[in-house]
Amino acid sequence: MKRPSPRVWSTAAIVALGVVVFCVIWPRRSSPAPSAAPVRPDSDASAGTRLATNGNDSGWTVRADTLHAGETLAGLLERAGVRGSDAGKILTAATQLDPRRTPAGMPVALRTAPGDSTPSEVVFQLAVDRLIHVRRLGDSAWTGTEERLPWRTDTIALHGVIASNLYAALDDSAATVLPKGARSELAWSLADIYEYRVDMSRELQPGDAFRVLFERSQGPGGVVRIGNILAARFELSGSETDAVRFTNASGRSEYFDQQGRSMRAAFLRAPLEFRRISSTFGRRLHPILGIWRNHTGTDYAANEGTPVRAIGDGTVIFAGRRGGYGNMIDIRHRNGIVSRYGHMRGFARGIRPGREVTIGQTIGYVGMTGLATGPHLHFEILIDGRQRDPRTALKRDSGLPIAAADVSRFDAMRDTLLAKLSGAVG
Ligand SMILES: [Zn+2]
Repeated sequence: MKRPSPRVWSTAAIVALGVVVFCVIWPRRSSPAPSAAPVRPDSDASAGTRLATNGNDSGWTVRADTLHAGETLAGLLERAGVRGSDAGKILTAATQLDPRRTPAGMPVALRTAPGDSTPSEVVFQLAVDRLIHVRRLGDSAWTGTEERLPWRTDTIALHGVIASNLYAALDDSAATVLPKGARSELAWSLADIYEYRVDMSRELQPGDAFRVLFERSQGPGGVVRIGNILAARFELSGSETDAVRFTNASGRSEYFDQQGRSMRAAFLRAPLEFRRISSTFGRRLHPILGIWRNHTGTDYAANEGTPVRAIGDGTVIFAGRRGGYGNMIDIRHRNGIVSRYGHMRGFARGIRPGREVTIGQTIGYVGMTGLATGPHLHFEILIDGRQRDPRTALKRDSGLPIAAADVSRFDAMRDTLLAKLSGAVG
């Protein structure tokens, strides 16, 4: 996309990200930033491209640098050739800068007029969308202003099919609309919405399909973030579960399925967050780590120290060492369900028999105590003392229905969003 780029100077400062020293001839521009506007999904927000095509002027020098580890801002300015007296005035004028909260790597850019030895402007990039401009007014006066750079938000519908796992499916279906990091973010957000219904690390089978309607925000310099997921659909082994985001009259947003039942329920489907499960093992149906005699549970490979969460409200009935399980916790839940967590490195503070825990609470940390060949969590569901398949045992509790007062508004919103979802390409 070709744009006249009214924020050339801002763009130059942003491009400094990751570049240690870099000089370019650059025109002076100082018009205000445009407000956010919708953008086509195929637009190219690459600041680097604009930088390369827009320079054309007049001898001004832009020096882009970053704050080194352990370096003060004054030190950086002096390293960049600013006199000590000016450095002090620049930092005084930058009232928005807290010198104690300037991280190493923060981009800083200095713009200097032809033939001048003192910069006319210094820009500190506090965040990807937040710049502090300090401009020289005369020989000794400097003034600071803050600039917020706009994000552009649009809505994207995607359709994907599982070949091996959710990450790979999004790599295929979202390659043209999201960079890699944002694709992982989208996978995690989807897993979070479905975490009471589907264990995304275990239950996706080749041929399963999904659709997702989500907000995408594009920031300065081509940064992309995932906003709200508005609706999603997973078709798992032929059965469909929709999730629709609904905001009630008091402003609280929650996801409901197509029948208007909350996507939250009494049990999480996995004792580890999807984003914490090893990318090498554990995304497939049958990880080979940690198989031991009489194995009757589910293993989740994850790094040592990964937090383990209670899958539901309950009471700790065992927390200690037990044979091949190593450090083990049993939690008794309603309806006689017991969840068991083994091989842990250790327990969270205060976890002991008799202790009440709430759903999602961290109870311990992944380890490899007991009979384990590598760090992983061994997980079991027991009913009447016998191991059960979590996929069926935990499905009994589905979410509460939406409030009666919200039903008609929800129905209308659901129909609108699901129609958009069905239009997804990919
Ligand atoms: Zn196991």
